[in-house]
Amino acid sequence: MIIKTKEKIIKAGKEILEANLVTGTWGNISLRDEKEEVFVITPSGMDYYDLVPENLVTVDFDGNVVEGQKKPSTETSVHASIYKIRPDVKAIIHTHSIHASACAAACEPIPCLLEDVAALVGGDIGVAQYALPGTPQLAQNVIEALGDRHAVLMANHGVLCVGPDLDETIKTCRIVEKAALVYINCKILGKYHRLKDEHVKTVRSNYLYRYGQK
Ligand code: 13P
Ligand code: ZN
Repeated sequence: MIIKTKEKIIKAGKEILEANLVTGTWGNISLRDEKEEVFVITPSGMDYYDLVPENLVTVDFDGNVVEGQKKPSTETSVHASIYKIRPDVKAIIHTHSIHASACAAACEPIPCLLEDVAALVGGDIGVAQYALPGTPQLAQNVIEALGDRHAVLMANHGVLCVGPDLDETIKTCRIVEKAALVYINCKILGKYHRLKDEHVKTVRSNYLYRYGQK
């Protein structure tokens, strides 16, 4: 089972690189194991194209390595803290995508202006206060700003998205990048209209329970 999980993460790594959501070895990806209280995460600072299953690291929800030879991602404690308190989260992807990073650098939350943002993120995209990578403080700041949403900006750093599987989480990373670009352009135009909270709720629940061939 874990081998399948590792293969899915390696595929997702190439996808986030090709989608220009990260550059080089930045960003990281993890996937919860279906049976044990562990997750599998990318190793720190290794090229996504060079990754083989043995390079991935299995970690428990306190951030302890339980299997793997490589040093796990710098952001392992952020991933572990989210898995611990959000049972709905099965996959986590951290990216440094460009327009979302601009909002993160400005410490500017992205308001929910678009239907696809309401559907995938579930509301505004907040900003976690800055803390150094790999610190417990960063994990705490991310948890607080993420709440029950599916994406959060990390001040002066990047983006973190969570979801029920890797495909959906990559989609959320792409939508967050689009949301940032649209928001920046609205600011240039000098106006924008937020979706009403009641509409955001309905769009999210339609997406979850009625959208597509359900
Ligand atoms: P890792 O390569 O250690 O995962 O670090 C990348 C990163 O983006 C840290 O925030
Ligand atoms: Zn990062």
